[in-house]
Amino acid sequence: MPDVNEVIELLRRRGDSEYGGEAVTQMEHALQAAALAESEGASPELIAAALLHDVGHLLHDLPDDAPDIGTDDHHEASAGNYLRQMFPESVCAPVRMHVAAKRFLCAVDDRYMAALSRPSQVSLELQGGPMSPGEVEAFRRDPHHEDAVRLRRWDDEAKVAGLVTPSLDHFARYVRQAAAGEVPS
Ligand code: FE
Repeated sequence: MPDVNEVIELLRRRGDSEYGGEAVTQMEHALQAAALAESEGASPELIAAALLHDVGHLLHDLPDDAPDIGTDDHHEASAGNYLRQMFPESVCAPVRMHVAAKRFLCAVDDRYMAALSRPSQVSLELQGGPMSPGEVEAFRRDPHHEDAVRLRRWDDEAKVAGLVTPSLDHFARYVRQAAAGEVPS
């Protein structure tokens, strides 16, 4: 069974890979998402989720431009399955739901869809496009949907080339707290 140190090492080892056509690496993207979560006073679990939401891209060897050739790596599902071995649902659910949250926001907010980066628009089609009204309703019934939407918005913002953030070691403590189920201090 993988442990918390392994997931941090995975990010450290593979984090220099490209983030699907965006201007940042996987590591920069993860750190920026976690920094946004921290700056908004999110729980350790949600900060950990922000940091780890894209580890699914690091668990396989598909090229980072896979969406451009019509391949969806289903990274939200693989990350959810992987993280479930170490973390509570408060971490795993927002990660598993971060693609659904994009499809949800596209269905309920026209401006959101228009503002998506190009790679995100390309992958949206592969991911099923905007949610149907029935899907929107089901999504809203999920107890983790608000956390998933918060994570999604940080995800979308975490693409700023050259932005300085705290280090992986800084955020690793939230990951350890979240895995141990500790009460936030
Ligand atoms: Fe992301």
